[in-house]
Amino acid sequence: MSDCIFCKIINKEIPGKIVYEDDECMAFLDLSQATYGHTLVIPKKHYANILEVDDETLAHVMKIVKNLANQIVEKLDAKGVNVLTNEVAGQTVHHFHIHILPRYDENELKIEFTDHSNDVDLDEVYKKITK
Ligand code: 5GP
Ligand code: ZN
Repeated sequence: MSDCIFCKIINKEIPGKIVYEDDECMAFLDLSQATYGHTLVIPKKHYANILEVDDETLAHVMKIVKNLANQIVEKLDAKGVNVLTNEVAGQTVHHFHIHILPRYDENELKIEFTDHSNDVDLDEVYKKITK
């Protein structure tokens, strides 16, 4: 038996509001509901994060994310979605998952990018990544 809370939802050991399920993945409502309809999509096989998940599984998960995002936007009359994953940084449940966050207005959720362009040498970053 796994200690992972999401594996427990997959195995129906604990309840979840499951909105989609197939052989490889599952989607259920996030308990915290950062926005109305906040949904998580996960592979059934346990991978810790996006850096570790295999390519085929990731492709399937992302296809389901797109389909569900469309369904959620339509059914909940949202304006759009944020789709995100917290790999190691900020991740609290270490079973790979993608958040679908339906959006209704600008102020309900803040995902802010701070402009550090004055502090960063783009050539240096570029060389580090590509060399
Ligand atoms: P993370 O911060 O790891 O990207 O997000 C984990 C998410 O899982 C959080 O938004 C949290 O609300 C959600 N979560 C944690 N435990 C449970 C649970 O037992 N059931 C459901 N449905 N969501 C959970
Ligand atoms: Zn797991």
